[in-house]
Amino acid sequence: MSRGYNFSAGPAALPEEVLRQAQAELLEWDGVRASVMEISHRGKPFIALAEQAERDLRELLAVPSNYKVLFLQGGATQHFAQIPLNFTRRGQAVDYVLTGDWSEKAAREAGPLADVRIAASSAATNYDRIPARDGWDLDPNAAYVHVTPNETIRGVEFHDIPDVGAVPLIGDVSSTILSRPLDVSKYALLYAGAQKNIGPSGLVVMIVREDLLERCPKDLPKIFNYAEHAAQDSMLNTPNTWGWYLAGLVFQWLKRQGGVAAMAARNRAKAELLYGYIDGSGYYRNPVEPSARSWMNVPFTLPREDLDAPFLKEAEAAGLLALKGHRAVGGMRASIYNAMPLEGVQALVDFMRDFARRNG
Ligand SMILES: *Cc1c(COP(=O)(O)O)cnc(C)c1O
Repeated sequence: MSRGYNFSAGPAALPEEVLRQAQAELLEWDGVRASVMEISHRGKPFIALAEQAERDLRELLAVPSNYKVLFLQGGATQHFAQIPLNFTRRGQAVDYVLTGDWSEKAAREAGPLADVRIAASSAATNYDRIPARDGWDLDPNAAYVHVTPNETIRGVEFHDIPDVGAVPLIGDVSSTILSRPLDVSKYALLYAGAQKNIGPSGLVVMIVREDLLERCPKDLPKIFNYAEHAAQDSMLNTPNTWGWYLAGLVFQWLKRQGGVAAMAARNRAKAELLYGYIDGSGYYRNPVEPSARSWMNVPFTLPREDLDAPFLKEAEAAGLLALKGHRAVGGMRASIYNAMPLEGVQALVDFMRDFARRNG
């Protein structure tokens, strides 16, 4: 057996170099004569690791100095609820832009905590596009505007950051962070579950402007209060030390690849190769409007549903893993995050071409 090309949407493939390094230093890390998983998060060696990971992330994304970087837990889903807990008061308006399943979930979780307004939605066209910005119905008094820059399930991505004026913009960048350069200063808060483009699940990276933290209610239990987490450098309680360590290795790997600009060139080439083949095939189909197609998640269908099972079985035998589409969409989905090399996408396209020829 050998490792295949893993197209899983999440938890997703990690760079092989990172896994090998973690394997090599699993038992004894950095001269401490114990595993990085077995040492105190308050000791000097771990704090140095934590600080290095933060510095590398700041450098990769050019994070301005008036933003805090937090390494939290709970998955992005917990923060769907924790964000309104921190930045609104009951009854205050918050604007959500619905572009797919994850933004729907984020809005639903905020429901009991705020007056959730749907400022725009592409639900009527089955989430196949980004609603045009000039049609958004934004409330200038909203506590924030929430967007999902990449919808992992339907493969819909914002290729520009929307201008929402003075209202703080919050983005769930779980499945697009670090895939390309990002102007952090256009957002008040960005958050990402790690298991798509950063590391293992159970870690959430948050980048938050300091002035927003002043809104966190003083009567909130500390464990839910972002200002408390920031004041304690994400060590209010025991953090996900293993996740933080692996995220740090991924950040260093990204720097060795040439940073996010180099990743963007590579990711664009991967996406163009796959969409170009799908569109020209006359066999496979991607339903998303071309201007909103994701660089990270590429759903596609075959001409008939009864071909799905043989496609998946033969793909797996060919070492192309986890291509089954999300149950809400059906068909296939190829997630081609940073850790997927161009050769993996080329192998997928070669397989798809051969399958179409044999099953045309
Ligand atoms: C995967 C994903 C989530 C959910 O992350 P959890 O860690 O499972 O809570 C939320 N938003 C987006 C965009 C995702 O891709």
